[in-house]
Amino acid sequence: MLLNDLPGSFCPYTFHMHRRDFMFGAAAALAGRRAWAWQAAEAELVVINARVYTMDQAVPRAEAFAVTGGRFAAVGSNDAIRRLIGKGTQTIDAKQMAIVPGFIDTHNHAGGTTLLYEVLVGNPFEVEFVTIASIIEKLREKAKQTPAGMWVEGFFHDDTKLKDKRPLNVRDLDQVSTEHPVVVQHRGGHTSFYNSKAFELAGVTKATPNPDGGTFDKDADGNLNGRVTDRARSAMGRAGRRPSFTPEQNAQRSRDGLAHISKQFVRYGLTTVHHSGGDLAALRDIRTRGDLHHRVCYEASNPDSWIANGIKSGDGDEWIRYGSTTEHTVDGSFSERTMAMSVPYKGIDPPYKGNVTETQDTLNTWVERVHRGGIQVNCHANGDVAIDMYLTALERAQKLAPRANARPKITHCTLINDDLIRRIKALDAVPAMFTTYAYYNTDKFPFYGEDLMKRSMAFRTMLDAGIHAAAGSDFSPGPFAPLMGIQGMVTRTGWDGTTWGANQRVSVDEAIRINTLNGAYAAGEERVKGSIAAGKLADFVMLGDDPHTVKPDKIKDIQIVRTVVGGTTRYQS
Ligand SMILES: [Zn+2]
Repeated sequence: MLLNDLPGSFCPYTFHMHRRDFMFGAAAALAGRRAWAWQAAEAELVVINARVYTMDQAVPRAEAFAVTGGRFAAVGSNDAIRRLIGKGTQTIDAKQMAIVPGFIDTHNHAGGTTLLYEVLVGNPFEVEFVTIASIIEKLREKAKQTPAGMWVEGFFHDDTKLKDKRPLNVRDLDQVSTEHPVVVQHRGGHTSFYNSKAFELAGVTKATPNPDGGTFDKDADGNLNGRVTDRARSAMGRAGRRPSFTPEQNAQRSRDGLAHISKQFVRYGLTTVHHSGGDLAALRDIRTRGDLHHRVCYEASNPDSWIANGIKSGDGDEWIRYGSTTEHTVDGSFSERTMAMSVPYKGIDPPYKGNVTETQDTLNTWVERVHRGGIQVNCHANGDVAIDMYLTALERAQKLAPRANARPKITHCTLINDDLIRRIKALDAVPAMFTTYAYYNTDKFPFYGEDLMKRSMAFRTMLDAGIHAAAGSDFSPGPFAPLMGIQGMVTRTGWDGTTWGANQRVSVDEAIRINTLNGAYAAGEERVKGSIAAGKLADFVMLGDDPHTVKPDKIKDIQIVRTVVGGTTRYQS
């Protein structure tokens, strides 16, 4: 299972060669001399006349850079870099375009198979309102091709992106079919909407009690309204039949789905994505066939198998690298309003503070085992109550088995307070926070109110405290477009024009750093990626406009002109 035998794996010797060549060249350039070594250091790729935002504190701005062996060989002025152009050099004149390091998304479910093969009842990538009638229509079409008794499923539903201005309910889905179990999955991944047949097959009635960590929601008359949250959904999932595929068909679907989403990632400027689990064999296959365009940090859904096989976070190579565990869930969802908070949700009776889906004892045991196994711990914790529980487990594990640079990951880390910030900093934990939500999900912020939004997705507070907050789109729950994320982080204004938690705004440069260098730090990769600096992997994005100078509410519309990974163009507009 180790990846060191894969083609194109990282060779430290090559790396040091290029680095030495560059350092010699750079020193010579500073002295204004033409050294004989320039010939030896002829670059494979040179980019000139650019506005390079390097995210390298030593040299924040540059005009040009050179690439050799898939890595940046030199970064500097047009004059200095032009000297590295030789007969075999590909030269790009950027015509004053802005260039930033390749974007890094540290939390993504990378569900390409769903995008490619399933019924999408909402828009995965952009803000778009749909009608309940359109959802019913799409699912009816699917039901026509599906044998009775088998699930009919819709994906990418967003309950606040409905033109009808009311929630989807069980009666709507009964219009799809009374013979098929029907489910519409919320893109947030924590709530689902079912028809009557699904409840019947699952044996769930209005008298069925809510299990721990989940609810069967009711209407005003006490009848099931169709919405089921978090852990109550497991009772529903056991009912009905699902299509079955041969192992070969499943492998093919995984490969094609991953190849499909890899194209989408580079189209939006992502050069590294942390995959929350998924089919590792399929990833390796599409890499071999040349369809893997972005670098993968692969997270373990079963860390015990890594422990058993001696695999640790950081193993692998520069294309498929072993990262943390997948998010071990401690509470519910922000967007679906089930995250565990210390204060009750507004306007809900009886008072509701969200779902804690894990006990402290179980969490302590799990965190300790993974931490001792040399694997980066990663839990999903949204609300302040869940983050507190997770930090308690981490503090305990670090005390029992201290380890430097453990960098435990907090997926989402949405609602914070001063005490949590102090403890996150003390642990050097890395929050992977929602980025596109500040633009995409403002329609959900009224459920929390301004007081809580001032402490939610708290990038300003995190940076001020010296915490390496990173960008985690959480696709499919959030769109993954980094520029949409950056716009939201800079403006805190959504698609609907409302502004929430403006105290958490960050500058354009800070937002880019969160989406690049901090993403590298989150996986212990800050020495090899995340900025445009000599010796690092040549991953960069050319932008049609400069996010520093366009109107902030137009950042998301900037065209991705070219995405380059390891010196090779993987996307061009
Ligand atoms: Zn997630």
